[in-house]
Amino acid sequence: RVRVRFAPSPTGPLHIGGVRTALYNYLFARQHGGDLVFRIEDTDSNRFVPGAEDYIIEAFKWLGIKFDEGVSFGGSHGPYRQSERRDIYKKYVDQLINEGKAYYAFDTPEELEAKRKEIQNFQYDARTRMQMRNSLAMDRTQWEQLIADGAQYTVRFRIDPGQEIHVNDMIRGDVRVKSDILDDKVLYKSADELPTYHLANIVDDHLMEITHVIRGEEWLPSAPLHVLLYQAFGWEDTMPRFAHLPLLLKPEGKGKLSKRDGDRLGFPVFPLEWHDPKTGEVSSGYRESGYFPEAVVNFLALLGWNPGTEQELFSLEQLVQAFDISKCSKSGAKFDFQKAAWFNHEYILRKDDEEIALLFAPIVANNGVDETFDRVKQVVHMMKDRVSFVRELWPLCSFFFIAPTEYDEKTAKKRWKAYSAQQMTELMEVLRGIDDFTVEGQEPIVEQWIADKEYKMGDIMNAWRLALVGIGKGPGMFDIAAFLGKEETLHRMAKAIE
Ligand code: GLU
Repeated sequence: RVRVRFAPSPTGPLHIGGVRTALYNYLFARQHGGDLVFRIEDTDSNRFVPGAEDYIIEAFKWLGIKFDEGVSFGGSHGPYRQSERRDIYKKYVDQLINEGKAYYAFDTPEELEAKRKEIQNFQYDARTRMQMRNSLAMDRTQWEQLIADGAQYTVRFRIDPGQEIHVNDMIRGDVRVKSDILDDKVLYKSADELPTYHLANIVDDHLMEITHVIRGEEWLPSAPLHVLLYQAFGWEDTMPRFAHLPLLLKPEGKGKLSKRDGDRLGFPVFPLEWHDPKTGEVSSGYRESGYFPEAVVNFLALLGWNPGTEQELFSLEQLVQAFDISKCSKSGAKFDFQKAAWFNHEYILRKDDEEIALLFAPIVANNGVDETFDRVKQVVHMMKDRVSFVRELWPLCSFFFIAPTEYDEKTAKKRWKAYSAQQMTELMEVLRGIDDFTVEGQEPIVEQWIADKEYKMGDIMNAWRLALVGIGKGPGMFDIAAFLGKEETLHRMAKAIE
């Protein structure tokens, strides 16, 4: 059975790249009828940020990405928070030590710093470890005494040089690395009695029966170490397959997308708004910026993967069908904020007027307008193809609800002719005589009148528009007049020619 996991560290708000990683895991799990596990990797207490875990859970709830197991979801492989699994890890650390695959290191941070100064490009590995203070470089009695005396230590993974390590990556194929370039990574720290990310990650993926590890490219350099750890534990047979997803790049295409790019360009890089508990700083979120979760999911799905067809719009269900991890690209994906807005626009177009009106009605009310829901819906119907966000509606269509108090000067200068007042007076007469004030009712009569008088259609419509809405843009004039109704239409026209 396919089992994948999304395993964030609660060090702050979830970056949009993390959302994409989770989404790909979700799609992979769904299409294989497998499980998606939500694990919190909080072994680094220095970087722990309160609220981050709840934030992440809420973000996925909003996005519609559901987990089968994990923190806040339950399941039979828990606990799913690494800080609650301390006792489990110690056993595995001891196993590696007893088998000579890991060793105690007593070097203090100062000693390590001094070594780094002394030796250029110092790396704690087979070449240097015998010069250091560790259980490989000491007599047994000596290091046992140190531990008995309560000396602080770390446990380091003993990496033997001369090996070729293969990482079998579903996107990148067979990635080979020489063990000589790896250092003896710290697996455990006695000071906080917790393992580091590497050990906890491997032990948990094993115990949680994870079959595929799908994560960001930034973890590719760690993958050879992880393969060695699986081998050291004797877990090669159940070692997960890896997929390292391409990075999300700045819109310019160079460098990793960062929070600052969002600030710089005025777009969010987080799913939800985030209030930093330490600095009080607020970072904008897709939800609060008016994006639909479906649009965000659709947009993210195509950053690093494409279906090989022209199709761009996918529901989550369709993505489950179409997604293919082996077709992910190896190179980074440019994060195009404009494209995100385009997706939102496409989703506005496809949503029922009703749904958009439910979002727009409170905005109308907040502007002091008392309108029926049905009329708000009519405006939405006329206007939604012009916006990418619901919040953009009001400035474009407030004239439906509020009569203009002034007339755009530039438009007036260009479009209100010397004879416009006269023509509008005549048009008012024509309109007064129309009983059926719908678009269909007005249109033939007004057009006939224009033809009879040999007026220019443009002249009439431009002046009429200015009179009714005060600006030069908007939907068709008959639509506007029909919405306003005969009385309001005549009232506004009378005011304009005053
Ligand atoms: N805790 C790691 C992170 O925050 C997980 C990396 C992995 O998926 O192995 O990205």
